[in-house]
Amino acid sequence: MPNQPEHTEEIQALRPEFLKEVRSAKRVVIGSHLNPDGDALGSSLACAMVLDQLGVKCEILCHHLPPTYLEFLPGMDRILQQPVHDDHDLALILDLESLDRLGTVRPWFEAAGRQIVIDHHVPHMEPGDLRIVDQAAPATAAILCDLFFGMEGVEITPEIADCLLVGILTDTGNFKFPNTTPHSLHLAGQLLESGANLPRISEEVYMSKAIAAVRLLGAAISSMETACNDRLAWSVLPYSLYEELGAKEEHTEGIVNELLSIETTDVAAIFRESKPGKFKISLRSRGDVDVAMAAREFGGGGHQKAAGLNVDGTQADVVGRVTGVLKRCLESS
Ligand code: 5GP
Ligand code: MN
Repeated sequence: MPNQPEHTEEIQALRPEFLKEVRSAKRVVIGSHLNPDGDALGSSLACAMVLDQLGVKCEILCHHLPPTYLEFLPGMDRILQQPVHDDHDLALILDLESLDRLGTVRPWFEAAGRQIVIDHHVPHMEPGDLRIVDQAAPATAAILCDLFFGMEGVEITPEIADCLLVGILTDTGNFKFPNTTPHSLHLAGQLLESGANLPRISEEVYMSKAIAAVRLLGAAISSMETACNDRLAWSVLPYSLYEELGAKEEHTEGIVNELLSIETTDVAAIFRESKPGKFKISLRSRGDVDVAMAAREFGGGGHQKAAGLNVDGTQADVVGRVTGVLKRCLESS
């Protein structure tokens, strides 16, 4: 929700319970969602480093490998796709509203016995023995700042500050999206005071694009279609295009925002064909249009202004069905 104050005090009130859970754990498994972004990985790594300081053993699991633009994050080699141990007794689940978004690593999080969920999405299911969830927070990393700043036994090192700043920066679109609040900017300031290296982060995240990613963006823009007096804009990126350009899945990141940046656009959609006949759709909106509601019609979800879904079928069928729902949303808004 834009400009709704974050629940800093409620988060801080959960500190003793958080500490009690992690201190009594023998080994923690930390994880986040499929196709991890800056908030998912920044939050996971920051938590691992905080647990190190608290003397609690942990490992981080993720379904996918980290995208190249996040490989500079400190401790990235700790992100595993298979655990080394199988004796986890606490799961720390971050930036995730529904356990199926853990992907193939889900069984280790379920086997851990106890679960802590820290998140800022609209809850889909409500897993977790302890839930530190604030929908008004712009990023999971911002909730972690409220939790960790001033926590007994925890020092925000420059490495932890880098990870948390990447989470806030990427989830606010570099402080451009309406979820950018005074509090999130204040937290970013505190992270800089703790030694976060903003010029390095900006260079790595925003100024190191692969040429295939730029070619993919070009293809998306030149094949863009619109409807509803140009209020709806979408592009389809077929599987064959990725093969032709040598583009990777991660190169799709950010393209949907380019379509949303058009003067007339209220809803933007990118249809990425991840495997022949399998489409991952990213939705973005501005104004009152709720794209999470549209995504839920197809079993997806997310936030009011940023949501996603997966639909299988032929290109014409998938695009027709999804744009049909989006047109209806626009017509009723
Ligand atoms: P993106 O378009 O960046 O992949 O996803 C935007 C947001 O939509 C994510 O932060 C996440 O909340 C949500 N999202 C994306 N894909 C899915 C999905 O398949 N299922 C659900 N429930 N949410 C998704
Ligand atoms: Mn997030």
